[in-house]
Amino acid sequence: MKITRNASLKPYNTFGIDVSCKHLILVESNSDIQKLFEDKVFDSEYMTIGDGSNLLFTRPFQGTIIKMVTKGIEKVDENAEFVWLKVMAGEKWEDFVRYCIKNQYFGVENLIGIPGLAGSSPVQNIGAYGAEVKDVIEEVCGWQISTKIPFSYKNADCCFGYRSSIFKTELKGDCLITEAVFKLSKKEAYNLSYKGLADELQKENIPLSLQRVADAVMAVRNSKLPDIRHYGCAGSFFKNPIVEKDVFDTLILKFPRLISYPAGDGKVKLAAGQLIDLAGMKGVRDGNVGVWPHQALVIVNYGNATGHDVVTFYRKVQKKVVEQFDIQLEPEVNIL
Ligand SMILES: Cc1cc2nc3c(=O)[nH]c(=O)nc-3n(C[C@H](O)[C@H](O)[C@H](O)COP(=O)(O)OP(=O)(O)OC[C@H]3O[C@@H](n4cnc5c(N)ncnc54)[C@H](O)[C@@H]3O)c2cc1C
Repeated sequence: MKITRNASLKPYNTFGIDVSCKHLILVESNSDIQKLFEDKVFDSEYMTIGDGSNLLFTRPFQGTIIKMVTKGIEKVDENAEFVWLKVMAGEKWEDFVRYCIKNQYFGVENLIGIPGLAGSSPVQNIGAYGAEVKDVIEEVCGWQISTKIPFSYKNADCCFGYRSSIFKTELKGDCLITEAVFKLSKKEAYNLSYKGLADELQKENIPLSLQRVADAVMAVRNSKLPDIRHYGCAGSFFKNPIVEKDVFDTLILKFPRLISYPAGDGKVKLAAGQLIDLAGMKGVRDGNVGVWPHQALVIVNYGNATGHDVVTFYRKVQKKVVEQFDIQLEPEVNIL
């Protein structure tokens, strides 16, 4: 493992917030984890990060940041229909998706382009364009820190929900994911349930293939999302709010064009980006922070914004949405 004292976290978060941490540990092998316990690293403040694409640092981190950089994709089982791949936590999610496309494994192509590591993908059950990673996760392995006992959670034990899992709730801050096993289909099947993706595919009359679907997803993503090499952000800043049916019925009378999706139990999911847009905040910028003009769900660091600047700004967005719709948007991003 590699240990750096007083490291800057700027290269370790896609918002590009310049704060430091006391120690940064890059874990290069699962056998290093025993050493972390022996060295009592977890006895004081610590946090595990991936590529920092879902984080907002608002202050210097006074403890140890631990990042898994372990690599490897291994086929652990296969039958006529499926293949099971064990992926180390430090693999880039994007590299894993491209590996699946190259090998004709179906199931993660709609999730191409999502920044971050494979080991972080179960934490908030990443999702995009009608797909969620929970649909291909067989099991997630790692260590529970408080008990010092390794775990291996089957899909059903992970308590996956919308942008949520046991790793973001019950085990938040108390687990170190080391690898995940994904179950991919070898049979050709595409998920084109998301209208924007189906529309993009219809623009050209080219036969469907994994590469074709992935290219269409990337075309849609690139038209909406900022390029994180140039603009700091953490993707969707807010979760899509889920409201009771009666709340929705009242809102739709006033705003007949509201986008909505059934959310189970009679509840309704609204599009946070549309609410921000209708509240007049799309493209609004205060100094170094603003709402991305092409996708109102994204808050962007245009320059040298501090975490505090971003917090002040996102609260302003929340306030405008409350004023207009009486709905409190909840950040999807982990704020530290
Ligand atoms: C431009 C952009 C577009 C995005 N688009 C999407 C999208 O379409 N869909 C989507 O769902 N998300 C999206 N995101 C959000 C983000 O990419 C995902 O949440 C991603 O899974 C975060 O991975 P990460 O490695 O960067 O994790 P981090 O941001 O570093 O960490 C996220 C959380 O996971 C925990 N964690 C990380 N690694 C481990 C580990 N090994 N063990 C235990 N806990 C761990 C951290 O403690 C933290 O709580 C986007 C972000 C950006 C910047």
